[in-house]
Amino acid sequence: MKIYDTLSREKKEFLPMEGRRVKLFVCGPTVYDYSHIGHARTYVFFDTMASYLRYKGYHVFYLQNITDIDDKIINRGRNEKRDPLDISLEFMLHYFNDMRSLRVDSVNIYAPATYFIDRIIDQIQRLYDLGYAYETDDGVYYDVSRFREYGKLSHQSLDMIRAGARVEVNENKRHPADFALWKKRKEGEPFWESPWGEGRPGWHIEDTAITEYYFGPQYDIHGGGSDLIFPHHECEIAQMEAVSGKKPMVNYWMHTGLLTIRQERMGKSMGNVINIREILKNVEPELLRYFLLSSHYRSPVDFSYERIDEIRQSWEKIVIAYRKILKKESKEGESFIDDIRKYRRMFEDAMDDDFNTPEAISAIQLFVNFINKNMDGMGMGDIEESIKFFNDIDSILKIIPSGRVAEERIIELILSIRKMARERKLYDISDYIREKLRENNINVEDMQEGQIWYRK
Ligand SMILES: [Zn+2]
Repeated sequence: MKIYDTLSREKKEFLPMEGRRVKLFVCGPTVYDYSHIGHARTYVFFDTMASYLRYKGYHVFYLQNITDIDDKIINRGRNEKRDPLDISLEFMLHYFNDMRSLRVDSVNIYAPATYFIDRIIDQIQRLYDLGYAYETDDGVYYDVSRFREYGKLSHQSLDMIRAGARVEVNENKRHPADFALWKKRKEGEPFWESPWGEGRPGWHIEDTAITEYYFGPQYDIHGGGSDLIFPHHECEIAQMEAVSGKKPMVNYWMHTGLLTIRQERMGKSMGNVINIREILKNVEPELLRYFLLSSHYRSPVDFSYERIDEIRQSWEKIVIAYRKILKKESKEGESFIDDIRKYRRMFEDAMDDDFNTPEAISAIQLFVNFINKNMDGMGMGDIEESIKFFNDIDSILKIIPSGRVAEERIIELILSIRKMARERKLYDISDYIREKLRENNINVEDMQEGQIWYRK
């Protein structure tokens, strides 16, 4: 299996540090508002990746932080005259709900920063003792000139960074790229006690304090959006490698590409932010995942409802094939096992190549064409093998609406009543049921295999 690493800028063979164990950390959200489609892109991808690694037999420990103290949270608290920590708690719960709706269920631990203040202070103290940090009137800063390799992840030198730095208001800093490890308390802000007085942690330090606590100084994979490469992930390397004296901090740096809305950068100031909860009012979560995974994770994705409509049909084709084969009755025998396994290998080959989900989806489409063509001649062994493949696909990509078991059973129950009505030629009743289901966005087709339904 190969993974593209941002630091070395190459696809590298995937070799975890400890046998089959994989330590994976992905930057979580700053919870000051609802999660948007850009979050969905990143977290759906890493969920798919973690699920695939588990399918391959790796024991993945997937850790995510939650930034629940930050300037944006404090500002919102000020505007709404609310405790900032109430705001971050509220949006953290919304985040969990959104992730549940998107079937993101692979994260082992969510670690909110404010639960780790002691660890954060301890790491800052060690950086301070080693001479990598200095105190000013308003906080404790990391001294980037002390860390020779600062800039290695984003591939720029310290001089380039200095030249590119915006004019700094803070004249206490030694270098414009120096960043806050600890921010001293200002009026009306939440605070914690520290050796440098009351205050709160900077953003970058929370990640390395949390990963050091769970993983130690070195681990396998660090992921996040590509907008986090500089300065956020650069700062993480500077902190962790300086404090531990060990490098590399991680073996694989993975970054998801940009998400745009109708070719424009998404942003509050652009007024074009689309929240996950809003999209899911109109789009099935599995269809949204199918859309997101139809692009490679490192490529840009352009979101629009038109694009979703365009791909809906190819998605439904997969879902309907799955429903058909679940109902298929067959005789003993297997004549297509090798073909079915060939499609599974195609799927795996694509995923093994830096998680090439668009290629993997192409393999699924070929598989669906194949079974649509050959379903009637399939024996029991073929059908079982196909269903197993579908279930594995769904446990990884989560693009087939099969998880909503109770709802599905009720729909099947209603359809069995409709079947009875049709058998007794009570067509007014069967049409009524079909119509009522359609009003609820469930379409029923009478096919050779019986009634096949799908969400519209
Ligand atoms: Zn982070």
